[in-house]
Amino acid sequence: MGDTYRTTSTGLSLATVEQLRRSLSGQILLHGDPGYDEARTVWNGMIDKRPALIVRCTSTSDVAAGVKFAREQELLVAVRGGGHSAAGHAVCDDGLMIDLSLMNDVQVDPEKQTARVGGGALWADVDRTTQGHGLATTGGTFSGTGVGGLTLGGGFGFLSGKYGLACDNLLSAEVVTADGSVLTASNDQNADLFWGLRGGGGNFGVVTSFEFQLYPVGPTVLAGMVVHPIERAKEAFQFYREFTRNNPDELNAIAGIVPSPEGMPTFVILACYNGSMEEGEEVVRPLREFGPPLMDGIGPMPYTTLQSMFDEAFPTGLSYYWKGRLVEEITDDLIDTIIEHYEHAPTPFSVINLQQLGNATNRVPKEATAFSHRDGRYDLLAMGGWQDPSEADASIQWARDFYEHTGPLTSGGLYVNSLIENDTLQSAYRDESFERLVALKDKYDPTNLFRNNANIAPSAPISSTSEIGD
Ligand SMILES: Cc1cc2nc3c(=O)[nH]c(=O)nc-3n(C[C@H](O)[C@H](O)[C@H](O)COP(=O)(O)OP(=O)(O)OC[C@H]3O[C@@H](n4cnc5c(N)ncnc54)[C@H](O)[C@@H]3O)c2cc1C
Repeated sequence: MGDTYRTTSTGLSLATVEQLRRSLSGQILLHGDPGYDEARTVWNGMIDKRPALIVRCTSTSDVAAGVKFAREQELLVAVRGGGHSAAGHAVCDDGLMIDLSLMNDVQVDPEKQTARVGGGALWADVDRTTQGHGLATTGGTFSGTGVGGLTLGGGFGFLSGKYGLACDNLLSAEVVTADGSVLTASNDQNADLFWGLRGGGGNFGVVTSFEFQLYPVGPTVLAGMVVHPIERAKEAFQFYREFTRNNPDELNAIAGIVPSPEGMPTFVILACYNGSMEEGEEVVRPLREFGPPLMDGIGPMPYTTLQSMFDEAFPTGLSYYWKGRLVEEITDDLIDTIIEHYEHAPTPFSVINLQQLGNATNRVPKEATAFSHRDGRYDLLAMGGWQDPSEADASIQWARDFYEHTGPLTSGGLYVNSLIENDTLQSAYRDESFERLVALKDKYDPTNLFRNNANIAPSAPISSTSEIGD
């Protein structure tokens, strides 16, 4: 097993690890233990990191014990929610991984229309349980994505046109901070921390549970995709721009160039109308008429079916690299750049898409939450995907070039959950918000214990061992 590793790689003795183990209700996995490799595997196959120990937490006190242990032993900390950060922030080399995936319980209060969600839950867990009561809240568009990372960075999806971001629907959170304290953050308690959690990522602590506002949704929504030939991409992007210019709150739509199941580029619009079927049919009629599409897959479907419809499109284990920008207005120049750039896509797994942040998202005041680019109407993302490691460099460069080329064509704001490198982190926030986030970091995590993330460094980091950020 990993005895040698345990004592040489991090200098931890077995006796020290045993002490931690005895204080936990959950499990510790070390290098070589059964389950260790599964627990360290994240969505992006490019990430292959080996923590010295993985604490599979089952309670808030396990999380607090893990945090205190990491601080005392001067270990780098990685926090795993759903493991979907493309940067691989859920895992680290040599340090301590706080794995929240067993903390995925979802409790619904149907009277208050709220849900209490474990810090390691996936959107599949939330959607399944809340829909059991005819309720839902804004989540991401893939059921395997984690509630933790998505909410703490903002979180838009098919319901964000009507209900705003996932973080806009957060009512309170239970947080284990860097000193091991357990705090409640809400508008009434630790309101400064609550502000920072809604867009500031995992910088201020480990969220062990989230409380969300829910709304009546479905169970059936009018949703699906229309597909057009790639040759019509320019007109189709222009159509999407007009279609989404003044759409009702009930509608959210994503448009992009994606590979067909045969690996050929196609233009796709994916839409969801969350409201009455009759009104929805009227709203989506232009979608059915434009072109006409090669394929019209829009129809009534369970909300949970929509939410898991594309899970297989970007499977865990393939390697990915992406870069994105927020867009206020889709200009013809931007459309031309997207189309031209896609022509040089290095692999058939490459995607460029525009996803609406949603009307309600855009109406929230900029200063209300740490997520501050409320003028951003679309998230523009170029994602390279590959199986063969020899295609890695070309795919990475392709996404980076796209980012460079689109800089002059967009407003400059970035979505923190689209970042892989931290060098542009500040562009994810307005200046005032960033200053406020640094002040919060100084207050809640002055030694930058939580730095294996989209890292907001404290103004004077008093870090003990490892490097800061990346
Ligand atoms: C296939 C796919 C589809 C996506 N679709 C959308 C979408 O529709 N809308 C959208 O807004 N985003 C989307 N995203 C981006 C997504 O928001 C980010 O990848 C997000 O980081 C995923 O969160 P996670 O918990 O799964 O990831 P993780 O890798 O587990 O965590 C990401 C970051 O959050 C921290 N973190 C996670 N949980 C906690 C917690 N409980 N407490 C403290 N810190 C925590 C981690 O430490 C890490 O720094 C998508 C990503 C993928 C891969």
